[in-house]
Amino acid sequence: MNDVACRFCGSGRRGAPVVVVTVFAAGGDAYPLIPDEEYRVCECDRAWVEFVARAIASHPTTREWDWTEAIITCRDKRTRMALRPGAVARVGLA
Ligand SMILES: [Zn+2]
Repeated sequence: MNDVACRFCGSGRRGAPVVVVTVFAAGGDAYPLIPDEEYRVCECDRAWVEFVARAIASHPTTREWDWTEAIITCRDKRTRMALRPGAVARVGLA
């Protein structure tokens, strides 16, 4: 997924690798999802929304959650927040 153009916006540019996605449940629990391979996500909102949805669905713990928030931290220390249902609010962008 890292070398092809984004299927949402067509861009070939990717951000820094994702280090961790911290998922928050409605009840206040949090769970860190750490990618098992290097993922670089396009800068566009739809790519981030899909990335978060796939990451949450891929883990047995978070898959069952009614999650409310996900905070993404990339290797360049910038973070983003993806809010259900599919909205993205950028936090800490340089
Ligand atoms: Zn894109």
